[in-house]
This record gives sequence, C-alpha cells and structure tokens, in this order.
Amino acid sequence: MTKQPDDRTVGDASIPETMQAVTCSGRGFENVRVEEVPVPRPGPGQLLARVDAAGVCTSILKLLAQGPDHAFINGWDLSRWPIILGDEGAITIAAIGANLKGQYSPGQRFAVQPAVGVPPICHRERYRNGGQGMHKVAVGYSLPGHLAQYILVQEEVIQAGCLLPLPDEAMASFAVSMAEPISCVYSAQQRHWHLLKDGPHAERRPHVGLLPGGVAVLVGAGAMGRIHAELALRFRPAALVVCDLQEERLDKTTEAIGEKARCCGVHLACVLPDRVQAITRELSGGRGADDIILAVGVP
Ligand SMILES: [Zn+2]
Repeated sequence: MTKQPDDRTVGDASIPETMQAVTCSGRGFENVRVEEVPVPRPGPGQLLARVDAAGVCTSILKLLAQGPDHAFINGWDLSRWPIILGDEGAITIAAIGANLKGQYSPGQRFAVQPAVGVPPICHRERYRNGGQGMHKVAVGYSLPGHLAQYILVQEEVIQAGCLLPLPDEAMASFAVSMAEPISCVYSAQQRHWHLLKDGPHAERRPHVGLLPGGVAVLVGAGAMGRIHAELALRFRPAALVVCDLQEERLDKTTEAIGEKARCCGVHLACVLPDRVQAITRELSGGRGADDIILAVGVP
C-alpha cells in the first residue's frame, strides 16, 4: 500500500482512446470478461475520472445470479448494453463536462458512495417501464463501475452527492476504495443497541453499539469480519472472541488488530470454532456473550 497517490498526470491530453474494463453481459460468470473498451468522454453534466483503486465485492455474486431481475438493473438488457462492474473505488477527476467547469478540478480525488439515491437520469429507456418507480441506482450496476481504468461519473452520482471528498489528501487510494465496506460495517454496528439500567430504580437507557466491558463474539474473519473486529474495538469490550474455520484468517486478524486491541485494553482471542464456547464461557465468567456478530457469507 502506498501512502501517496501516484503522480500519473491527469488532464484531457493524457486520456487514452481505449481502456481495459471488467464487463458483464448477462447472468453467470461466463458473461464476465476483461475487455478493451472505448474510454467514454463526459457529457456536459458528467465527469470522467481515473480509477486509482477498486474493490471486488461479493454483491457482484447476487448481480450475476439475478441479472436483469436485480433491483438496481431493473430490466436493463445486459447482452445489448453490457455494464462495467465494481461498486467500490477511489477516483481522481480527469476530465470535466462543460456544465461542471469551475465546480470540479482535474486531480481532485474522491471516494464513491455506490448506492445512489436518485431515480435514473441517463438511459431511462433501457429500464423496465422507463425506470418508473425506481428511487435508487447504483455504481457498478447500471451506472459505470470501478473495475476499469476510467469511470464515467454520471449525473445521478453528482446529484445525489455520492462523490465524497477525502478528509486527508495523503490517504492511500486502497484505503479510500474501502469506504463502502467500512461504512456498511459501521452502520450495522450503529444499529445494534443495548438497554442499560444503572441501578434498581434507574430508568433504562439505550446504548448504541457493543456493550462496553462485555464479551463480544465475532463469527467469520473474512474481509468484512476483520473490519467488524477493528471497529468493535472502539466500544471497548473486555474481550473480543473472533472465530473462523480458516486458521490463516485468524492469523491475519491477530496481525491486523492485535496491537490495537492491546492498546484499547481488549482481550483478543482468535480461535477455531471448536473452542468458541469454552473460551466465551471462561472470559464471561459463565455468563455467555453480550454481543454476537455474524460476518459469514453463507447462512
Ligand atoms: Zn460493495
């Protein structure tokens, strides 16, 4: 991972005619391919951006299973108008549509929020019933995705405020491209709460997040699981038990957050499933887990 964004030049002159892109032209992996496609030129209300980093998300599996029946695709004929995949990315503005001059400048970097909360604006005729009743579109679905060298940022993304400026220009592009999965995990933890009572006569009060001083169990130490583990530390549980079938993932978790857990005063135990029950009982004094997070792809 590099700390600095790279210094490839940005500007109309450096934009090539074609680029490599991961396209999808129907259901199933057999319709996913890496292709040489034209680099789009932005319309008056659009931007063209260079993709600096992109994530591969398991939501692509649902898209490949459902094809045109996916809610974000809504009847769009993928064989006629193949899409560019990739909902997660970090981008740098390369060219600016006439109506947006002055509002954006070449070289500006953004994270992209892929769930775009506006009805379709471009290519409405390609959706079922002209896109009527749609309140949301998505990047990497009917809006061009990040698994390409350049991305066309359409009006929908701009109108919905889905270009997120970086809080720190030195942020690594890889980290920026993780904004969407991190925000999913953050929002899941913020929707989880406890009702606490400070004394026998006290009012119950809600506490958002994991129980401070409690024992949390996290099942699944894949990419999302490890983000969960790191964000869980902010609630300062007394112990965090992380379990996975693969020892390699447990080692990665220890490597990634072991030191941070120590600094936060959280006892981190990364164990195979056969040890979860015993260690949870031991760490909680027989009480069991206060919080359980399931971060497994298969129910
Ligand atoms: Zn995603």
